Amino acid sequence: MKKNGIRDSGLGIRVSAASIVAAAIGIGAAAQPPGQLGYDDTPMQPGGRWHIHDGKRPQPPVVTPGVKNADPVPPPSDATVLIGTRDDLGAWQMTDGAPATWTMKGGVVETGKGLMRTKAEFTDFQLHVEFATPTTVKGDGQGRGNSGVFLLGKFEVQVLDSYNNPTYPDGQAAAMYGQHPPLVNASRPPGEWQTYDIVFTAPRFAQARLDKPAIATVFHNSVVVHNGDAFWGPTANRKIDPYTPDTAKGPITLQDHGNPVWYRNVWIRPIADRESAGR
Ligand code: MG
Repeated sequence: MKKNGIRDSGLGIRVSAASIVAAAIGIGAAAQPPGQLGYDDTPMQPGGRWHIHDGKRPQPPVVTPGVKNADPVPPPSDATVLIGTRDDLGAWQMTDGAPATWTMKGGVVETGKGLMRTKAEFTDFQLHVEFATPTTVKGDGQGRGNSGVFLLGKFEVQVLDSYNNPTYPDGQAAAMYGQHPPLVNASRPPGEWQTYDIVFTAPRFAQARLDKPAIATVFHNSVVVHNGDAFWGPTANRKIDPYTPDTAKGPITLQDHGNPVWYRNVWIRPIADRESAGR
């Protein structure tokens, strides 16, 4: 048992095994050459000056957040609680439709094998997520505390231990993965609870063509890191994926990237637009 009730016994074995597997099949940052922070052989970002996962892109300035997040942030009365205080994963399933297999103890969920998604689907919402990476640091770059919060199952806000852990900026903690680095690096140290507060507007389509892109405003430990930024499409590793109409709604999905990460106190408030709400 470590501080904040986070268990991390035996994690080194899991991390090592996952890193070996990732390297063997060439996924994620594990496939990049040793000592290289990012990539320069990937497509250019749309309208931008940088390659996807460009290691030469400036690192976001480090900001020490004022909050310490020692206690969970209580959900508002109208929130839908996705991970609460009872050890109950009834709101979740695996992405293949099987019952949720990640483990939950004492209100804390540990990442397991395979991605876990909510049964419910959403469009526009306010989402609160609390997460922690292992106190005992193993691995580096993309191999340290990697998970992710996939909005609508398609748009990843990266989860990573980005405390003194350089990686390509569009892949660090709170990045809109592969697209926009966070404005600043507001990461707390490994083992400490951290928060994401995300306001998300789903993409809109007209006659199956994109009308408006998905928009996200993100606070990391109460520090704004994205201010109404647009996703140019679903997030992806080392490539650009186009919008398709099936990205208009979807679940909240938590990523298994082979690293142990913990989640607690996850809640969501669907947002009605003013017009349809009649206000
Ligand atoms: Mg990830």
